[in-house]
Amino acid sequence: MGSKNRKGYSFIYLFLLISLATTQVANAANNIDQLLEKANQIRTSDPGKFSQLLTQLEGDSEKLTTQQHFYLQYLKAYKLTFSGKTTEGLVQLKNILASEKADILIQYRARLTIINIYAIQQNWTEGLSQLSHLLEESKKVTDKETILNGFMIPAIFYNQLEQYEIGLKYAKLLFDGSTSERKTCIAKTLIIESKLHLKTLAIEDSEIQEGMKLCRNEGVMRNFIRSYQAKFNLEKEQPTLIIDSLLPHLSEIETTKYPRLIVEIYTSLAQAYWLQNDYKNAKIFAEKSTLIGNNIKTTQAVVAAYKLLYQIAKAQGYPLKALKLHEIYAELDKTYVNEIKAKYLAFQLAEHKAIEQKNKIDLLNERNALLTAEQALIRANVENTRLMVMVLALTLSVLMFWGYRLLKAHRRIKELAEFDGLTGIFNRGHFTVVANKALEYCQSAEQELSLIMFDLDYFKKINDNFGHACGDWALKETVAACKSISRQNDIFARLGGEEFCILLTSCNSSSALERAESYRKAIEKISSQGSGHEFSITASFGVTDAKTSGYDLETILADADNAAYTSKHNGRNQVTLFTQPKSPQKAVPLDNDRDAF
Ligand code: GH3
Ligand code: MG
Ligand code: MG
Repeated sequence: MGSKNRKGYSFIYLFLLISLATTQVANAANNIDQLLEKANQIRTSDPGKFSQLLTQLEGDSEKLTTQQHFYLQYLKAYKLTFSGKTTEGLVQLKNILASEKADILIQYRARLTIINIYAIQQNWTEGLSQLSHLLEESKKVTDKETILNGFMIPAIFYNQLEQYEIGLKYAKLLFDGSTSERKTCIAKTLIIESKLHLKTLAIEDSEIQEGMKLCRNEGVMRNFIRSYQAKFNLEKEQPTLIIDSLLPHLSEIETTKYPRLIVEIYTSLAQAYWLQNDYKNAKIFAEKSTLIGNNIKTTQAVVAAYKLLYQIAKAQGYPLKALKLHEIYAELDKTYVNEIKAKYLAFQLAEHKAIEQKNKIDLLNERNALLTAEQALIRANVENTRLMVMVLALTLSVLMFWGYRLLKAHRRIKELAEFDGLTGIFNRGHFTVVANKALEYCQSAEQELSLIMFDLDYFKKINDNFGHACGDWALKETVAACKSISRQNDIFARLGGEEFCILLTSCNSSSALERAESYRKAIEKISSQGSGHEFSITASFGVTDAKTSGYDLETILADADNAAYTSKHNGRNQVTLFTQPKSPQKAVPLDNDRDAF
């Protein structure tokens, strides 16, 4: 998925990641602290020495304090990640996050590195989910450099995601807080990039001049600013300005050997010549752009270069050549648009969660307003006459009564609309909305997706033998047991009665089978003691994935249901993977070691 050669963006991101400024912690207390700090400082500039220091520290492992261990673990994870072992690196970093003992600074740095990784992998959903924790955590961090990195990484991430308004907010924070020339230059470059896309860059804007000055020692960054300026002039249809500002710096730009920058510049020049009807030069630069951009074909600048080549061939009267070029252009453009769509949907899904949070906060605020009114009354009670208070109390109780009813109605409507009243998870209607969004996103981002469906076994007996309340208890316990092992991105819903489903994004069928097994075991383990009766709870599972069932929600649900039915048929309390029927037999049961039924 993430490793595919589909990096369809053309910004400064990857360059920044490689050269991210290092973080320092003041006052190294002893030799080990100093070594850790040294390793941290040279981790990007001198990878050989960095490895050597890590080995040395590992040798002294028994002398390390708990926090020093975590620091070492963080540095090791960093090394794994940037030497290509991203999966292992991610596991290590997530272990640091999961540990309650690691101090907040290390946790925060681990989170920032995780966000970096997700941005490189274009895993926007996970990246956004990590970012949502950052604001809360940043309040507890006091180390200046780390705070600045906590602005820089979201600024880059949101610009990558083309959410320039948010990116700009962070870039400004970075700009205001920065104490180093390098960070100020990065901040200014990001500000110009956001403003360009937000169309708030003005012609006489000093921003670009200032940026050039601030980035005088940062070749790549300075030339990215030139490319933004060129884009701005292209919008204003000022080809001469573009050519005059870029041509003199061409060799400087080429020596950076940074393809993402070079294709931007070549394409801008090609577009400028095209506007001047200079087909010859337009073609030269567009071809250069496609050549350098061979490994980053879905980058906007390369897509635009192919479009130009097609237009030039057409204008020069070569219809066959034009047709061929148009085919390439259309294919690349489709991929590029899909990538944009994937970004947008990921953001939508994340924003959906944010809106849910906001609604909850609004409800809390409403409740607070009622409490404040109550306190005001208590104060008035002391100051005013008894009669006055009684009038006030009466008025307030009427107000509170209505306020409370309104609040309750408001909350109830929202909950009815989205959540299942008994178990608190998504209801069927809301699940359909969210699941369709997730399906659309996974399809366009070519991500895998699986669905687990399950139905409790002989549930009617629980109701019949111990009463409906006991049945409700069992339903709630089932959801709690599943929730305790579910992951953040799982979409868990009650479809009705004692039937549930879990949609797993970025998950293939074999992982989904394992997950279903864990859910099955978790349900089987529920003890009925809390209900005051003795019985067991089990469920029959069906699993399918988009590879087998496609991306249509109804089909996926039907196929998983079909497999769950096979589980029932074969003795219940088991997991079955759906397979497309070849013969009359529809699903194959998962081989497992149970004999309970
Ligand atoms: P099977 O193993 O074949 O699934 O058998 P079962 O008894 O679980 O299936 P059946 O569909 O016959 O029974 C489901 C029961 O679930 C019937 C219904 O009264 C009960 N039920 C549905 N919703 C609720 C609820 O919210 N609370 C309680 N307590 N019972 C419910
Ligand atoms: Mg049942
Ligand atoms: Mg049922």
